[in-house]
Amino acid sequence: MDAVVVGGGIVGLASAHALAERGASVTVCERRAVGSGSTERSIGGIRAQFSTPVNVELSTASMAIWERFEERFGVDIAYRRPGYLLLAREAETADALREQVPMQNERGVPSELLAPGEARERCPELDADRYLAATYSPTDGFADPHLALQGYAEACRAAEVDVRTHTPVTDVRVTDGAAVGVETDGEGIDADVVVNAAGPWARRVGAMAGLDLPVVPRRRQVLVADPDPPVPEDAPLTVDLDSGSYFRPERDGAALVGGHFAADDPEGDPDGYARSMDLEWAATALERAAETASYFGPSTRVQRGWAGLYAVTPDWHPIVGETLPGFVNAVGFSGHGFQHAPATGRIVAELALDGTASLVDVSALGRDRFDRGALLTERNVA
Ligand SMILES: Cc1cc2nc3c(=O)[nH]c(=O)nc-3n(C[C@H](O)[C@H](O)[C@H](O)COP(=O)(O)OP(=O)(O)OC[C@H]3O[C@@H](n4cnc5c(N)ncnc54)[C@H](O)[C@@H]3O)c2cc1C
Repeated sequence: MDAVVVGGGIVGLASAHALAERGASVTVCERRAVGSGSTERSIGGIRAQFSTPVNVELSTASMAIWERFEERFGVDIAYRRPGYLLLAREAETADALREQVPMQNERGVPSELLAPGEARERCPELDADRYLAATYSPTDGFADPHLALQGYAEACRAAEVDVRTHTPVTDVRVTDGAAVGVETDGEGIDADVVVNAAGPWARRVGAMAGLDLPVVPRRRQVLVADPDPPVPEDAPLTVDLDSGSYFRPERDGAALVGGHFAADDPEGDPDGYARSMDLEWAATALERAAETASYFGPSTRVQRGWAGLYAVTPDWHPIVGETLPGFVNAVGFSGHGFQHAPATGRIVAELALDGTASLVDVSALGRDRFDRGALLTERNVA
């Protein structure tokens, strides 16, 4: 089988590698450089504490690969697992956390419900009085997105994937209702299967195949702070689900701080959005983080920051499926595409080669759910 993957981010490279491992002849077309989309702007969070079974299952299947990544791909991706601590201020959010834990536990996730005082044992500077409930899972954590992408890029080369950078796909060839290849700036490439892994550009690539994919780029910012006191490296990635604020330890006491706080959330232009951090946003982000934990007092210094794009669908779940014969979408991962890439790659290969996915049941993630009104609800997003 000949496959063309559009996009050289983590989803595209994981898909290309999984396809090649199963014997396909694979070409990756990347319009710029590998990683030039959202992947290298992510903070690398990897967690299983989601509220829908399909997201939990994408996480557990991916974590099985992340855990053995160094052994398998020969690259140390700085995978650390101090856990995620999810915090509820509102009664409704606390109720939802209580409901999720058994669903996660049934899928092998060692998450637990904590009273606010117990949550402070995980995050010593936490303002526990602000919260009604928390959940914690010790196997959640984060890795370095740049190193992970390099691991996949190396593995693709070793598997003889033809990774073509500076090769924008300009059209998808469709014959008799099936995708049969792509056009690039320089040449056409025939393929039995075309994979759309174009991240924030996914809607445009879908339109090339005549599809309307509801995937909208939305800008998100992150900053690196020097808090006082420093955030210990074993502190969890801590998320206030009701304010949307989150932070996680970086090296040497520094912390990454993020969240979206504006009432509006306009569509971003993947070719023209502001890639630097807004100072006003940084002030708000530190104020919100200070509400959660006293690491972020007035003497906190901001080292730097940046913005990137989430690729968001109406229900904050990805579209994973063969939407048109020969055209597989793996798009719309919002803030979860880094962590879900390993399982997604394998699922893309299953869809392309077997016609169905067995690693995780992704039947709920088809494009048709938006026409059928069968939207999912993920509560744990930031
Ligand atoms: C601030 C921030 C924090 C985040 N934190 C996390 C996190 O903690 N955990 C997590 O799991 N996720 C996180 N994410 C989300 C994560 O970054 C994305 O979901 C993930 O990187 C998506 O990967 P991708 O391969 O689909 O897309 P991308 O990395 O965007 O790759 C798509 C590629 O397609 C290429 N492309 C587009 N159009 C064409 C074309 N026509 N022809 C050829 N190539 C094309 C682009 O150049 C790009 O390189 C975060 C994102 C942001 C912005």
